[in-house]
Amino acid sequence: MRQQIAAANWKMNLTFDQAGNLLDEILKAPNQLQPHQKVVLAVPFPYLQFAQNKISGKVNFFTAGQNCYTKSRGAFTGETSAEMLHSIGIGYVVLGHSERREYFGESNAMLEEKVSMALTYGLTPVFCCGEPLSVREAGTQNAYVEQQLKESLFGFSEEQIQKIVIAYEPIWAIGTGKTATAAQAQEMHAHIRSVLAGQYGKAVADEIPVLYGGSVKGSNAKEIFSQPDVDGGLVGGASLIAADFIQIIDALK
Ligand code: PEP
Repeated sequence: MRQQIAAANWKMNLTFDQAGNLLDEILKAPNQLQPHQKVVLAVPFPYLQFAQNKISGKVNFFTAGQNCYTKSRGAFTGETSAEMLHSIGIGYVVLGHSERREYFGESNAMLEEKVSMALTYGLTPVFCCGEPLSVREAGTQNAYVEQQLKESLFGFSEEQIQKIVIAYEPIWAIGTGKTATAAQAQEMHAHIRSVLAGQYGKAVADEIPVLYGGSVKGSNAKEIFSQPDVDGGLVGGASLIAADFIQIIDALK
């Protein structure tokens, strides 16, 4: 059965105390998660070990790095490797977020290397893709996203691709309060699945979780997640508000 995921992307937010309070609120809320439903918390690097300790014993909860480097180790001041994340028990890593692409110049080729590193060290990459507003307005979003997938992911084997989670995040909807409609999300998710099927076959494509990201809130999560090809969400702003994120977890279908 395809995995469903509510993923929190805290970005560069919260002090240590605030992070602890938010984790406590989320973890104490009762949930009805089934074995194929997961919560992934991409917290800032300094809090990863702390968050990892907090979730211990919570079977459906995982932590994630918000990035990793293209190399395992060495003289790369300020970087964090997939090997390091793996060594402290982190299960996931968000790669290719549009903010990393825009502010840190991450290219599709670089992201292929990062995905490769994550897979080498047993981390599940949450690979982000999505088009800017100009591309959406030109109506060429399908080709744009297809190219991101091809250039970063299609070098991987059938076995490897099944270990990847994809997050479709239209850039015009990230942090803007402007959500794609459920129909727009479904249309792109179906396209992503058909592109994956073209390369790896339908059976493989049907098992790859595709999350939606872009102004998901407690109030709209249920409608978006109810779409057949939407397998949960990658959530920024609303993941910093306990009540909102708890509602988003509950919206997993
Ligand atoms: C994100 O950062 O991945 C994101 C989707 O942000 P927001 O939910 O705030 O739009």
